[in-house]
Amino acid sequence: MKQLYIDFDGVILDTMTKSYETLKATGIDPKDQKKAMEFFRNVDWQKLISETDVINDSINEIKKICDSKKFNVYILTHINSTNEMIEKIKFLHKVLPQVTVVSVPKEISKTEVVNPSAAILIDDYSGNLKEWQKKLGIAIKFVRNYENSDFPEITHLSEVIGMFNQ
Ligand SMILES: [Mg+2]
Repeated sequence: MKQLYIDFDGVILDTMTKSYETLKATGIDPKDQKKAMEFFRNVDWQKLISETDVINDSINEIKKICDSKKFNVYILTHINSTNEMIEKIKFLHKVLPQVTVVSVPKEISKTEVVNPSAAILIDDYSGNLKEWQKKLGIAIKFVRNYENSDFPEITHLSEVIGMFNQ
């Protein structure tokens, strides 16, 4: 079975759209790095997750991937705080109890926490995908609308099932 890592923010839940709205509403300039980082460290993730939409039926899409028995599935997510890690794990264990969650501190590359070699990463951020490819991993970009990027693109997570025959 292939190792399959799936990003959380912007792939499973639309947390970034929601938290940027809140950031702007509080009057913080998103370009003010220091204040923005402090804001993100202090986000109430229980509240954020409860108010955030699931993207393109992602939870059911991941269940389909697990049912295909083609992949070892992990959620690989960057975190800014312990609260963020705890609330993401609690949420994922409730909706996807069969899936392992790997949390990566924001300051560290995802490629330094897991071994990308011959493993698949589905992520909405090209920066993460570039690093993944450099370390001989297979990069797939999750998009809402096709972007013609440098990576194979999918709009629904279960599309990955048909991309690998083994
Ligand atoms: Mg993301």
